[in-house]
Amino acid sequence: MPDLLRVEAIRSGYGPIDVLDDLSLTVAEGEIVAMIGANGAGKTTTLMTIAGIVKLRAGRIGFDGHDLANVPAHKIVRLGMSQSPEGRKIFPRLTVLENLEMGAFTRADKPSIRDDLEKMFNLFPILRERQAQAGGLLSGGQQQMLAIARALMSRPKLLLLDEPSLGLAPQIVVQIFDVIRDLNQAGMSVLLVEQNARMALRIAHRAYVLETGRVTFTDRASVVAADPRIRAAYLGE
Ligand code: ATP
Repeated sequence: MPDLLRVEAIRSGYGPIDVLDDLSLTVAEGEIVAMIGANGAGKTTTLMTIAGIVKLRAGRIGFDGHDLANVPAHKIVRLGMSQSPEGRKIFPRLTVLENLEMGAFTRADKPSIRDDLEKMFNLFPILRERQAQAGGLLSGGQQQMLAIARALMSRPKLLLLDEPSLGLAPQIVVQIFDVIRDLNQAGMSVLLVEQNARMALRIAHRAYVLETGRVTFTDRASVVAADPRIRAAYLGE
C-alpha cells in the first residue's frame, strides 16, 4: 500500500527547546501504526506537529499527496486527518450531540452529517443515550468515546489517537481498542500513541519506539513486542 503519511527528518519543539530531532515515520494506507515510549519522549509533540498545531522547524511532512509545510491545522483536518487529543479535551459544557457536531465543522455536506451521527451512535451506543447530556458529565470512558467519535465526524482518512487508554478501566480499554480495530478494518489508517504498549502492539501492524525525540527502534508490531529490550523497558517483563 502507498504511504498516506510521510514524516521525514522533522524537528520541532517549544520556545528554545527542540523536542523532536530528525524524526521520521510513515503510515501506509490501511495501517495501524503505534508510537510507544516513556513519558516525555515526544509522542504528543509528534502528533501535534503532524496535525499542524506545533510548528515544524525542519524536515518535511507529506500527507495524501500534499506537503503540509505551512498548512494551518484546520486545513489539515479538511485534507482528511483528525486528532483525538490526549486528555480527551471534549467541550464539557456542550452536549454530546453538540460535541459531535463540532467535529463536523469543516464539512459542507450538511445532510450527510446526520447519517454520520447515526454511525457514531451505532459505534458507541452509550453516546446515543447520553446525547442530550453535557459532555463534562460523562464518565472518563464515555468522554474518550466522544473524543474519538468527534474526530471521526470529519471523515478522516487518517486518525491520530493520543493515549486513548489513559485513566480508563481495563474493560473500557478493550472496548475502545476493538472499535479502533473495526475502524481500521473498514479502511481507516491510524497513528496511535500509547503508554499502554502491550495493547497498542496487539492491534498495530507496525510500531515506532521513541526516546528523547528520536526513533530508536521500528519494525512490525509483533517483532517489537518480542524484542527483549522492548519487553524489559515498556512491557514490564
Ligand atoms: P507524555 O506521555 O507524558 O505525554 P510524550 O512522549 O507525549 O509524553 P511530549 O508530551 O511530547 O511527550 O513531551 C516532550 C517534551 O516536551 C517534554 O520534555 C515536555 O516537558 C515538553 N513539552 C511538552 N509540551 C510542552 C509545552 N507546551 N511547552 C513546553 N514544553 C513542552
